[in-house]
Amino acid sequence: MSINRIGLKLGAAVIVLMIVILVSSGFAVNRLFTNFYDAQMRDNTQGIADHFTTMAESGDPSVQTMIRNFAEFSDVKVFWLNADGQILTLSGAKLTNPSFVRVRDTQRLLSGHPVEFMSSDASGNRFYVVGKPIKAGSSTRSALYIVSSMKKIDNSLLRLRNLLMLSGLGAFLLALGMILIMSKLLSRPLLQMQKMTEKMANGNWDARLRVGSRDEIGMLGHSINDLAASLQRYRDTRRAFFSNISHELRTPVTYLQGYAKVLADGLVESDKEEKQYISIIYQESVRLEHLINDLFDLSKMEEGQIKLTLEWLDLKEIIKTAVRKVKLKAEKKRLSLQMDLHDRVPDIRGDRRRMEQVLLNLLENAIRYTEKGSVLVRLVRHEEATVLSVSDTGIGISKEELPYIFERFYRVEKSRARKYGGTGLGLSIVKKYVEMQGGTVQVDSEPGTGTTFTLIFPQEKKLGKDRINP
Ligand code: ADP
Repeated sequence: MSINRIGLKLGAAVIVLMIVILVSSGFAVNRLFTNFYDAQMRDNTQGIADHFTTMAESGDPSVQTMIRNFAEFSDVKVFWLNADGQILTLSGAKLTNPSFVRVRDTQRLLSGHPVEFMSSDASGNRFYVVGKPIKAGSSTRSALYIVSSMKKIDNSLLRLRNLLMLSGLGAFLLALGMILIMSKLLSRPLLQMQKMTEKMANGNWDARLRVGSRDEIGMLGHSINDLAASLQRYRDTRRAFFSNISHELRTPVTYLQGYAKVLADGLVESDKEEKQYISIIYQESVRLEHLINDLFDLSKMEEGQIKLTLEWLDLKEIIKTAVRKVKLKAEKKRLSLQMDLHDRVPDIRGDRRRMEQVLLNLLENAIRYTEKGSVLVRLVRHEEATVLSVSDTGIGISKEELPYIFERFYRVEKSRARKYGGTGLGLSIVKKYVEMQGGTVQVDSEPGTGTTFTLIFPQEKKLGKDRINP
């Protein structure tokens, strides 16, 4: 398993954080309980010591027996310190070398000062010791030592520490398990994506990811699938284009050769026939020119070499020129070609030749894909934009195809393209040119009813005031 795996990095960070939190909270809980128990033990022992001292100072002859009984009952050990500095049990036996007695305490006690401290024996058992002087009148002759064993408390604390360690270990193992699962869940789709993108890099764009989640990773998966789909579409349309283009190029060339040879060999029978052949040669050469122009523009676009010559354009004038050029085509198909050009539309900044080409592409498409009815070019001024639209009453484009028509080489159904001609480049050139001139293109279409392409150019201020054409 590589250490570079994202899940492991994340897991390591979480584990370090977990250890820090567990250890520090373990210490805090341990300290809290230790302090609490110690304070309680201190209070208890001090209370008992005060009680015994009061009893001893009362001078009652039966005090020794009473203290002994009480001591047994309260779980502490009581010793006398006599004026000679000897330590005696309550029954009067002398203790030799008791571990809890320190010389300086004896002196302090016999001079009338209480002492308290924590002590431990050779085997490490802890005791809490309170020493209280017993006053007789104004002098101190003896003292009491009350020794409380900390064994119970230490045992409780030991159990608590074990419990803390166990629960810490449990939490740690649980977190470790969760991290392993999470890292698997997290890295599996990422690894799949990596494999998929590797495949895509090797030209396999048919593979798709199975996306289950709706989180960021799921969204990334969807985006990669979309990317693969559009690359695949690009490849397919490109392939189709190259097979089409060779056909498209060959067909006019075959016509040109055939009819030119007939004319050259003098095989025509009448003037009418000759004119007809010359007309076909002319039409085919025009078609070839279109194709070559589109290809030329495309290759320049691919190389990012197209430079615009920007100037202030009167769109009305450009529309009229373009409409004049396609008028004959529209008349041939008996389509009515109309213009609705509003007054006071400001000039826009653009490239005259490209703008005319945009219009010609849209108009030619409108005429090409319309069998009866009309084609309308409209120019209006909106609040913040100049809007130019080309509408037709033609065959329309289905909703499913609409998002793709601006892609290079894309043609709606091949059979349709064969019938109408065209290269599948016109609209991608339109879009590119309009965007280069600061505009946007929209399309609305209803199959069987017609299509409208709308170009929107935001208004640009021309040093001070708009240049407006009446
Ligand atoms: P083409 O040279 O094939 O017309 P375009 O890029 O100009 O290529 O158009 C792409 C496709 O969009 C065309 O193949 C055609 O099917 C469709 N299309 C474009 N304009 C229209 C329109 N006005 N009406 C219906 N379909 C259209």
